[in-house]
Amino acid sequence: MVVTRFAPSPTGYLHIGGLRTALFSYLWAKKNGGKFVLRIEDTDKARNSDEATKAILEAFKWLGLEHDGEIQYQSKRGEIYAKYINQLLDEGKAYKCYMSKEELTQLRETQMANKQRTKYDGKYRDFNATPPEGIEPVIRIKAPLTGEIIVKDGVKGDVSFQAEDILDDFVIARADGSPTYNFVVAIDDALMGINEVIRGDDHLSNTPKQIVVYEALGFDIPKFYHVPMIHNQQGKKLSKRDGATDVMEYKTMGYTPQALLNFLVRLGWSHGDQEIFSLQEMKNLFDPKDINKSASIYNTEKLDWLNAHYIKNTPNDELAQLLLEFDIVLTSHDKKEIILDAIKERAKTLKEMVSLIKEILQTPTSYDEKAVKKAFKGDAIEILNAFGAKVATCKNCHLPSDYHILMEDIVKEKEIGFGKIGQPLRVALLGKMSGVGLDTVMAIIGKDETMLRIANAITALVSSDKTVS
Ligand code: GLU
Repeated sequence: MVVTRFAPSPTGYLHIGGLRTALFSYLWAKKNGGKFVLRIEDTDKARNSDEATKAILEAFKWLGLEHDGEIQYQSKRGEIYAKYINQLLDEGKAYKCYMSKEELTQLRETQMANKQRTKYDGKYRDFNATPPEGIEPVIRIKAPLTGEIIVKDGVKGDVSFQAEDILDDFVIARADGSPTYNFVVAIDDALMGINEVIRGDDHLSNTPKQIVVYEALGFDIPKFYHVPMIHNQQGKKLSKRDGATDVMEYKTMGYTPQALLNFLVRLGWSHGDQEIFSLQEMKNLFDPKDINKSASIYNTEKLDWLNAHYIKNTPNDELAQLLLEFDIVLTSHDKKEIILDAIKERAKTLKEMVSLIKEILQTPTSYDEKAVKKAFKGDAIEILNAFGAKVATCKNCHLPSDYHILMEDIVKEKEIGFGKIGQPLRVALLGKMSGVGLDTVMAIIGKDETMLRIANAITALVSSDKTVS
């Protein structure tokens, strides 16, 4: 059975790189009918926050990613780590190191001055004299001093590390007894049965150390997939300026879960040239062997394009539900269908939908000056007035087509182009020159509100004398 995991350190918000590896791990487990474990790596007491853990869970819920079994918290597993530290000490595979901070600094400085790699020199590796007083020892693992460590990576192939270039007897427990990252990760992955680790390639250099721990404890080494980073358009590491740092900001910006998941799955993974994937399709098709070898490029236009696609193809009932989060209540609005049909083709985000809806439903309180200048030339007021009168006497004005007929009538009667009524009417109804079709707007707001907006505009523009003759 494939068992994968997502193992965030709750020190900040969940960012999109983290979420992408979570998604990959989730999909790969699901595709194989396996398990996806969520492990919160909360051993760094100074930097952890409950908020960050909550934010991760909130993001998972929003996106519909479900982990299997209980959430595992490293902070609750201290006894397990202590047991393995003692085991390694007993077996002589780890030892207490009494080197003081000053001594360690001195060692580092000398190595730097000699242009050597800075590393622990193994002073206490085979020490059996009386230890110096007043120093709480750290525990170091006996790492191989020479030879090759090969990380068999599903994305990068075999990556070879020379022990003397990257290893030293690294610390597995600090002086206060707390275990270190590479030690607990290896133990947890092994004990939780994780056999496929998918994570960012910023962790690749940790993997040889984790392999040392696996080997010392006689655990099976999982299969690794180190996923290349996400870069911005300039080929640099993604920063705050390129996209949201907190995944939940995408929700606030009006992106749908499907669009974000679809966007993420294509950041570094492809299946032919297919762009649109439902979650089910991702589960069926995802395979880490298709993860790209080079960095992926973050592209906001692509995200917008996907989001527009999903908005267009989401049933209106569901859209109405999503819009509730933005305080737009259309769920039982009698014009729900016509409103949503009119705007879902035009909006890239739910937030844009919100402004389009507000624009339609709220009586304008001001009028865009440029639009007024353009629209209210010559006899615009008179034409608008005449149109208002037509609306007032209309017996059967409900559908967009009913209002469209009224507009056609006025065009014929006055022998004018469509723009001569369209432009002032648009400003009267929406306060500006852009927006959805006017016949649709009138059908949505109804006859009384249409007349009110026309009258309001005429009063405002005549009294402020903004019309241009
Ligand atoms: N806790 C680590 C992090 O958030 C990830 C550990 C791992 O994936 O192996 O960067």
